[in-house]
Amino acid sequence: MNIAYALKNVNLIHGDSNRHLQSGMTILVNEQGLIENIAPDHGLTIPSHYTTIDLTGKYVMPGLINAHVHLFADGKPLTLSVSEGLLDFAYHRILDTRFGRNVLKKRMKRNALTALHAGVTTMRSVGEFFYTDVRLREEINRGEWVGPNLLVSGFFLSVTGGHGAPYLALVGDSPWEMRKNVRMNVQNGVDWIKICVTGGVTDAKTVGEAGRLQMTVEEVAAVCGEAHKIGMKVAAHVESTEGVRVALLGGVDTIEHGAEMDDEIIHLYKNNPNALDGYTAVIPTLQAAYPAASLDPSVTKLSATVKENARLVYDSMLKGVKQAIDNGITIGIGNDAAMSYVSHYDMWRELDHYLRQTNLTNKQVIDMVTRTNAKILGVDDVTGTLDVGKHADLIIMEHNPLEHIKALSNIAMVMVKGKLIQSPVVPRIKEVDDVLNSVWQPVD
Ligand SMILES: [Zn+2]
Repeated sequence: MNIAYALKNVNLIHGDSNRHLQSGMTILVNEQGLIENIAPDHGLTIPSHYTTIDLTGKYVMPGLINAHVHLFADGKPLTLSVSEGLLDFAYHRILDTRFGRNVLKKRMKRNALTALHAGVTTMRSVGEFFYTDVRLREEINRGEWVGPNLLVSGFFLSVTGGHGAPYLALVGDSPWEMRKNVRMNVQNGVDWIKICVTGGVTDAKTVGEAGRLQMTVEEVAAVCGEAHKIGMKVAAHVESTEGVRVALLGGVDTIEHGAEMDDEIIHLYKNNPNALDGYTAVIPTLQAAYPAASLDPSVTKLSATVKENARLVYDSMLKGVKQAIDNGITIGIGNDAAMSYVSHYDMWRELDHYLRQTNLTNKQVIDMVTRTNAKILGVDDVTGTLDVGKHADLIIMEHNPLEHIKALSNIAMVMVKGKLIQSPVVPRIKEVDDVLNSVWQPVD
């Protein structure tokens, strides 16, 4: 049982861009952690056993939803030119041991907590080692510690030599092997299936290889068929136009990263008979590609190949974002936290890209990172907006994010499923903040 709360005198942002900010509101949160009532202060009697928190002057909105994260790393820059041999050694000698798995689990928990304390009340983790994500989700759901709502996908599904293979992926090379790998992930308790349709920036060895096609339509369709028959959705890592086409034809539910579109692709996004909901959403991860693409290699310590691939992917992804907006394609927000320079506490920077690069408003991007994300993730019945009957997943800020998106970088309090974190603690990574702040001119 939780404590029941009355959050009094708040400026309320619903998370739905069709509704306006309301001042002088009280939110009642019951012992089950659900929003029981939302009404003007003067019209509401607060039951005597409720703990009243006076939030005069503060802003309350739904908790942030990060639709694309990995918990295994925290965003500290890695030198991506690590040789294969060293990675091999590190994996077998360290990570894949009892000790290594324990260290990994602790680190993942710490990253989940950092995200939560920075306002991310729901996260979809799209690719982790050893089903540690499943175990963390179970611990949170059993109430062992207060964590974010976690949707997890276990290992990637990839092809031989494909993105994330062999350590971060279950490898398969035919429709039936793909089906078997889906079944293995399902057996291990995942919520989502994550597949790699093309290569990625982090493992490409030559310029242009990041978006190289790896899966066939038949393989993607087998994954989707297997997942959809039990109502599970499929996320596809894709970094090129042809990759997006293959993934959409196969019936995936979300395109991660994405690329420039053509007419066939635009049509398929909006009307995809093979996707579970009849359409496919795109979840660009602009923040993940931006630092590598725009920073000087002397700062990032990245190879010229990685920088050039990141630039190609960023430019194509951004074109895709603009086309998605122009054509009414559903866009979700995720930042690929864990990648170099992408911390778990900096969601505002992902939103800031949209404000700088497109004509979307603060209200629209806040809708995307709350209500729309919840819908894409299939959790809009329980979270994503501030409405009676939903989980009390919310954040409290000193400043108005509808005016300054950077208000999201300083969260005063966080509530997840009715559990209030009154003094959030966000361990920041100075070397990451310093570099990003040196290139970042926030729009507001
Ligand atoms: Zn990712």
